Amino acid sequence: MQGPVECIKCHAHMEPGWVVDKTHAGYEQESWSPGEPQPSFWTGLKLEKDKIVPVTTFHCPNCGYLESYALPQSISER
Ligand SMILES: [Zn+2]
Repeated sequence: MQGPVECIKCHAHMEPGWVVDKTHAGYEQESWSPGEPQPSFWTGLKLEKDKIVPVTTFHCPNCGYLESYALPQSISER
């Protein structure tokens, strides 16, 4: 992904960010996991930690539209 992302609704420049996941341990970045959610007695849902991808979400300051990308590395590192 390169350059500023444009809102598909109103064509304003979107700002990068991330969705806050509030857990018992604190705040975390939302992640994407492949497949169906499988219940786990110990953790609520089973998770293969080597397969999850952190989610970067763009926000349109004009209309509020959110657009998410699951990328192995954060946008700022590119
Ligand atoms: Zn917009």
